[in-house]
Amino acid sequence: MASEQSWKKKYQQVLKEAEQQERQCREQRELLERMLVRTSVASKGLRPELDQLLSRMRTALRRKTLDTEAWFRLQEQIDRQIALLDGEKTPASDDDSARQPIPASGSDDGIDISDKDHRLLIARRVGNLLSQVLEKVTLDPDAELRARELQQTLLSNLDWSTLRTSLEAVSELLIRAITHHQRELEAFLTRLNARLETLREHFAHQSESNSSRKDDTEILDREIHEEIDLVNEDLRVSQDLESLKQSVGQRFEQIAQALGRFKEKENKRESLMAEQLESMQQKMAAMEASSEQMQEQIRRERARAMTDLLTQLPNREAWQERLHFEYNRWQRYGHPLTVSVVDIDLFKRINDTYGHKAGDRVLQLVARELQGRLRATDFIARIGGEEFALLLPETGMGEALAVMDKLRGYVENLPFHFGGNPVSITFSSGLASFVLGDSEDQAFERADRALYRAKATGRNRVVAN
Ligand code: GH3
Ligand code: MG
Ligand code: MG
Repeated sequence: MASEQSWKKKYQQVLKEAEQQERQCREQRELLERMLVRTSVASKGLRPELDQLLSRMRTALRRKTLDTEAWFRLQEQIDRQIALLDGEKTPASDDDSARQPIPASGSDDGIDISDKDHRLLIARRVGNLLSQVLEKVTLDPDAELRARELQQTLLSNLDWSTLRTSLEAVSELLIRAITHHQRELEAFLTRLNARLETLREHFAHQSESNSSRKDDTEILDREIHEEIDLVNEDLRVSQDLESLKQSVGQRFEQIAQALGRFKEKENKRESLMAEQLESMQQKMAAMEASSEQMQEQIRRERARAMTDLLTQLPNREAWQERLHFEYNRWQRYGHPLTVSVVDIDLFKRINDTYGHKAGDRVLQLVARELQGRLRATDFIARIGGEEFALLLPETGMGEALAVMDKLRGYVENLPFHFGGNPVSITFSSGLASFVLGDSEDQAFERADRALYRAKATGRNRVVAN
């Protein structure tokens, strides 16, 4: 009974985790859907037939279930329309050679841009969104590699036909990723169900076997009583000892046979039970292994969803979670808690002068240096492009200013070299400590305003709110 209870607990745990994964899947799917909707809205106005198909696609996205076949049909129609669109283009509009690269991010709102630039911006946006998606979704290694190649193409290529092929490949890749995820989860739930059914069968057998033993015991009891009654009857009517001896002997023989039959049945029942138990144990061990695998996968996915891929620092989601935790502690114990927002100075210039890859490298190194110099109880996350947020528990404003200024000086003196030239990287930071009556987000907002003042008053400085 105790082991039955512990299995029940384990199943409930596994089910809870499966539900959690399903929720994650749903969130990923919503993110991908938003991306598709945005891309399709951005592509509006190129061709009425294409607009219609894109609108159908958005309607299909709003449905809760994904009809993959209908989806692929729709995608083929969209492909055809895009092919037609390319046929309609004038050759002059395809000339990319004289254009400057469009930045990988930035706002085009309100800017009058040509059709061609518009498309390039869309591709850049999809490239950026793809990197967000890649942080959340686990793909198999091949698909991941392919996604990274596509992301690079979307962020840097200028040739529209290559970009178009890449955009199509992105949508196929993402749909395949979602379906793959859903199938994995479905397969796990099916396995879980099958095992639960086995368990149910096992207990049904056991109660069947218990009731058949009860029946057999009753039969045996009846048979023995009948024979004893007959012995009594023999004793009452018998005239001579010899015939009495014979008939009592026969009765005992009958009783011995009934006992023998009972014992045989009992042995059969026992060996059947032992077999069933053995097979149950095997199935349970397999179940335990597969649920451990599933839990491990959930743990990995969760860690991944909380980590920024480029710097390996905790990401914005992790920041929110930790902030919530530290805020609650601060409310409970009232020890000082300070937030720092860090933004690298003139980072765009680094990208523009030395390239995006050099920019990425700077982000990785600065992240590593900052994290390496914090106390174990401090927390740092990458919350945006070149922005980081820090939580300093047990640290009031005076001490936090000293800590952050030390870090600032340290980063300023890091020996960065690009193309053989030494380059100084600096950051600005805004600080705010939690004060009575603050909501969870208020200290961050004040720190962010202080950061703005640090930028406005010359950068490479730490400012308290
Ligand atoms: P400021 O001192 O005012 O902060 O100037 P800034 O140039 O740092 O600020 P701005 O917000 O204008 O530019 C931030 C740049 O960071 C623009 C964007 O291209 C770049 N960026 C954002 N995320 C990444 C990334 O993951 N890798 C690289 N290499 N660059 C990034
Ligand atoms: Mg910034
Ligand atoms: Mg900056």
